[in-house]
Amino acid sequence: MFKITTIPGDGIGKEVMKPTLEILETINAQFDFIPQEAGAECFKKYGTNLPAETINSCKNSDSTLFGAVTSIPEQKSAIVTLRKELDLYINQRPIKSYTNPNINFTIIRENSEGLYSHLEEDYGNESIAIRKITHKASERICDYAFEYALKTNQKKVTAAHKANVLPLTDGVFKKAFYNMSKKYPNLTANDYYIDAMAMYLITNPSQFDVIVTTNLFGDILSDEGGGLLGSLGLIPSANIGKNNGLFEPVHGSAPDIAGLNKANPIAMVLSSCLMLEFLNMHEEAKNIQNIIESIIKEGKIKTPDLGGTNSTQDMCDEIIRKL
Ligand code: ATP
Repeated sequence: MFKITTIPGDGIGKEVMKPTLEILETINAQFDFIPQEAGAECFKKYGTNLPAETINSCKNSDSTLFGAVTSIPEQKSAIVTLRKELDLYINQRPIKSYTNPNINFTIIRENSEGLYSHLEEDYGNESIAIRKITHKASERICDYAFEYALKTNQKKVTAAHKANVLPLTDGVFKKAFYNMSKKYPNLTANDYYIDAMAMYLITNPSQFDVIVTTNLFGDILSDEGGGLLGSLGLIPSANIGKNNGLFEPVHGSAPDIAGLNKANPIAMVLSSCLMLEFLNMHEEAKNIQNIIESIIKEGKIKTPDLGGTNSTQDMCDEIIRKL
């Protein structure tokens, strides 16, 4: 029996979580789901967007499934705090098109520092954000990226940075990347400045296998990945540390479509597949991924972001029917 904390959160986070749990309940596995709260609605109820009980539940579970939360200016980001509390230093985001074979790469985003260090100061007429990049965190994320490439039979790892303009911080990252690459002589290592990388993802995405980058650059590139695939509703992510894992779609709470039952649940369902892989249930994960691939290729059931008129629930019912 796996203990799984579930945090639906706000907006479409709730709408994509419910059917994902229905899908997980139909596979041959034993889960004890523990619902917890976080986000803007939680803040209204309890005065905090991340209660201690939620953090403790995540710490004491085998994994966490997280929907999405709406940011509020009064509080630090709930998801950023959770990543820190659980020491989830890796953020893995596979960008795979089921219809265009040229688009199949994984972004490995450093998840613990950079511009997400919560180090912002207001000095009246100016404000400063500190972008903290350490050698230790850079080495461990680059090492993971090379290990991941080996494990998934890929050939190349590409670092994205801006070391020409940020020679100290991104200099550390670039140096750590090439230091680590020496451990992996059978893998190709190369690097691009982040702006060039943003262009090549559009003009020549097939050159990329694994991309490793710092926190904010990874966030931006993943939404660009959503653009490449046609919708943010297709991209899952895994936040992984030494002892824990939290799995969430790349998209946010999407207030513009919340409550309309038209969010694409695929990103959330694929995130739950990354959780199944993390729990060593590879066959079950593959089965659901194959079903999603077949639904996208058939093109009969499509939520509005994919150009159709089907609802969130229609998509999930189809996945359950095929399961
Ligand atoms: P955050 O800052 O919390 O990541 P965001 O500002 O990036 O959020 P999202 O909530 O991810 O914004 O939404 C960006 C756009 O993508 C919106 O137009 C939204 O409707 C659309 N979108 C996001 N997720 C989905 C989904 N699952 N299905 C359909 N459309 C989606």
